[in-house]
Amino acid sequence: MITKQAIEAFGSIRTPFYYYDMELLKETLKVYTSYTKKFGYNAHYAIKANAEPRILQTICKAGLGADCVSGNEVKIAIKNGFAPSKIVYAGVGKSDREIKTALKAGIFSFNCESVPEIRIINDLAAGMGVVAKISLRVNPDIDAHTHKYISTGRKEDKFGISPWEFQAVADLLKELKNIKLIGLHFHVGSQILDMSVFPLLCRMVEQLQSWFIDKKIKIDNINLGGGLGVDYQNPDQNPIANFKDYFELIHKNLIVRPGQKIHFEPGRAIVAQCGHLISRVLYVKIGQKMKFVILDAGMNDLIRPALYQAHHDIENLVSTGKKTKYDVVGPVCESSDKFAHNIWLPETKRGDLMALHTAGAYGQVMAMRYNQKDLAKAYYSDEIIK
Ligand SMILES: *Cc1c(COP(=O)(O)O)cnc(C)c1O
Repeated sequence: MITKQAIEAFGSIRTPFYYYDMELLKETLKVYTSYTKKFGYNAHYAIKANAEPRILQTICKAGLGADCVSGNEVKIAIKNGFAPSKIVYAGVGKSDREIKTALKAGIFSFNCESVPEIRIINDLAAGMGVVAKISLRVNPDIDAHTHKYISTGRKEDKFGISPWEFQAVADLLKELKNIKLIGLHFHVGSQILDMSVFPLLCRMVEQLQSWFIDKKIKIDNINLGGGLGVDYQNPDQNPIANFKDYFELIHKNLIVRPGQKIHFEPGRAIVAQCGHLISRVLYVKIGQKMKFVILDAGMNDLIRPALYQAHHDIENLVSTGKKTKYDVVGPVCESSDKFAHNIWLPETKRGDLMALHTAGAYGQVMAMRYNQKDLAKAYYSDEIIK
């Protein structure tokens, strides 16, 4: 929900820009951490969802650690206050440079995605005279029933180590002196709204970890990744993700061994709803069949609709005119630069301020300069509303 005062303040800001509702971010974190505290869970925010410094600092202050997928994310996390002891680092293609960055920082855990990667981390750690703590990212072969580009836990996906490789890993652990296995890691996909995925994940975790426990290999940490979805259709009615059902389901279904610590890596569910892409209408073009609202924001600012056919709720912040059907498109020279097809909006004209909601996750962070467009800047509710 964007307030009247905010809309007034938008008048003097050059569009397009990202607007962050810091009250909502803080409230979301409050609800999230109420459950992690209640159940004694650890959380690491997935920095790839949104890496704006103010967002990171707010999340860090709420007590979360960081989940990184590149060496630069590890650096950014530390720069914005996250303790290395709360940083985890995943990714199928960690470069030698990136691994060294993380070793130097002394992060909590490398979430390893292949057997060759474990060998390289061991060799680099040996070269630096340190022992790297690693977890195995396990591919549990679960279909999270989400979009095919954001599904990561099926056996045909590139992520993680499969159960048939466990013996090879167990042999390696005996052989390699500069790695220490501290846990198992799972992350099966993103924008998961089908809650039945999570009990299934808990059962898979139990099955997979018993393989190690049977071999007397201790698993001190279980990391269940992120992936909880948010309501892109009704952001005003559901501004905070369903953390209650999520955590209660996991608490009920996960078998926790004595002394074991449970970790999570939320990304989208923390930051999606607090972010909005604010844009102005450049033209309304009347076609033979369609009316096109042409925005000054495009796929260069928010690529999710073009990349995943994602839906973002669109609101005309200033018009109360008669409802009309429109296509809403951006200025970029690509047919996929389209935000919505055949949607009802109040009568819209040049200069109207428009909001694309639920844009806080995988929005600004994926922006690019295609067509040599400027990058949209970030503005924060507590800075522009006095
Ligand atoms: C992207 C990612 C996450 C966060 O996923 P969300 O769907 O944004 O919650 C968590 N863990 C890993 C390893 C990731 O790659």
